[in-house]
Amino acid sequence: MAEKEKNQIENATLKKIISHAKEYGFVFPSSEIYDGLQAVYDYGQYGVELKNNLKSLWWKTMTHFYENIVGIDAAIFMHPTTWKASGHVDGFSDPMIDNKDSKKRYRVDHLIEAHIETLKDLGQKDKAQEVEDKMNALIKEDNLAGLRELIIDEKIKCQVSGTSNWTEVRQFNLMFSTKVGSVAEEAETIYLRPETAQGIFVNFLNVQKSGRMKVPFGIAQIGKAFRNEIVARQFIFRMREFEQMEMQFFVRPGTEIEWYNTWKEARKAWHLALGIPADKIKFHDHEKLAHYANAAVDIEYEFPFGFKEIEGIHSRTDFDLKNHQQYSGKKQQYFDTEINQNYIPYVVETSVGADRTFLVQLCNAYTEEVVGEGENQKERVYLKFHPALAPIKAAIFPLTKKDGLPEIAQKIYQDLKIDFNVFYEEKDAIGKRYTRQDLIGTPFCIVVDHQTLEDNTVTVRYRDTLAQERVQISELQDIIAKATSFRGILEQLK
Ligand code: ATP
Repeated sequence: MAEKEKNQIENATLKKIISHAKEYGFVFPSSEIYDGLQAVYDYGQYGVELKNNLKSLWWKTMTHFYENIVGIDAAIFMHPTTWKASGHVDGFSDPMIDNKDSKKRYRVDHLIEAHIETLKDLGQKDKAQEVEDKMNALIKEDNLAGLRELIIDEKIKCQVSGTSNWTEVRQFNLMFSTKVGSVAEEAETIYLRPETAQGIFVNFLNVQKSGRMKVPFGIAQIGKAFRNEIVARQFIFRMREFEQMEMQFFVRPGTEIEWYNTWKEARKAWHLALGIPADKIKFHDHEKLAHYANAAVDIEYEFPFGFKEIEGIHSRTDFDLKNHQQYSGKKQQYFDTEINQNYIPYVVETSVGADRTFLVQLCNAYTEEVVGEGENQKERVYLKFHPALAPIKAAIFPLTKKDGLPEIAQKIYQDLKIDFNVFYEEKDAIGKRYTRQDLIGTPFCIVVDHQTLEDNTVTVRYRDTLAQERVQISELQDIIAKATSFRGILEQLK
């Protein structure tokens, strides 16, 4: 299939997923009645459940599952010097270029990458590779003028104006700032954190001392981060307000590469344990290492728009703690009793986006299939979530509204809701009720019918296979608990 045709189909898939997410209560554009706010999204009634399940699973895996990792919840606002020490005030920027005619601003790497894709579409694979190599080399040496020259030489045009009338390439800082203090003159500029990691570093000694932690140990955190992304693309993949799930692992200097390799494999295994097929996940080593890293890799997932980063594993050396020590004047050292030495620990970071993980699950779960035979053939759309992640675990339906069936179904619902997020409904034909649950990914539908009155059994209908099975009411709790527990996932990670 031609590359272009493939891209069109894949983008059509993304479009379907985006409209499904909106229509069935997963993700809405922010403040939509005012036409939305670019690159900001709200999670709906089912979206928040899926996201919370993902966050709980990550938390469980990255804290309780390890005896030497604990979690914290640091504030979004931090002392402004934090961001000087971390390098964000001076260095957290992307090279940007503006088209003088349309006034549209582009991230330089995105602009050149789009051109590379066009070359590939035109069958000019060698030329595409040559441009890509040139771009990577220029980015590596921070050669802004060279990047501009490449854009001009390649005659890259603005999509809006169609011209090549470009400004210089400039660095654009991605941090949002605001003011604290009630009197304007006293107000101080502070930043909305662009990553959660620094909240962990500044608490390193607090946690180490209060928890009597011994290196190697980790501190984990889930929280919001903010970046003024200029090119906001691909739905919730790149947002200005998003959530990160990060774990910083503090190790003895010299052991960091070993730990880096351990975490690299452990994190990949986590995504696979959630049901992502192995051929859809791959590692991508960084072309250009960040100033603080001595090894870095991305875990990428094959979205409908191609393989893209979902998680970064970075060996951050002692860069952060050393700088905080320097800027704060407070020692950030650890005394290692095993070797009788004081040192600033090295850090291996695992950083995954909650929203990107959500999008991975949504893309992976979205299934279209044809069911039935002959005239009864029809298309079925459903979300094949792992039961542990599904927003609703089971829906309970009385077959009809009569003969005492709703009373029994209500009783089952009232009992199951203590342990699970379950749903009750008696409106409409049973087929319609099944379809509604398929569309939001509910793994079990439980139907109370006339046989229930005789033998206390109900029908369990399974989302993926459409198989139906009669079970005792007393067995329901066990069936749902087994399928929706994190145990099956965590056992694969032991
Ligand atoms: P990218 O290259 O895609 O901008 P990054 O390398 O800057 O990402 P990191 O700083 O390593 O990302 O952040 C760790 C994780 O946080 C990413 O792997 C991603 O899952 C998530 N993340 C980063 N930026 C965003 C964003 N704008 N919207 C949603 N998630 C994000």
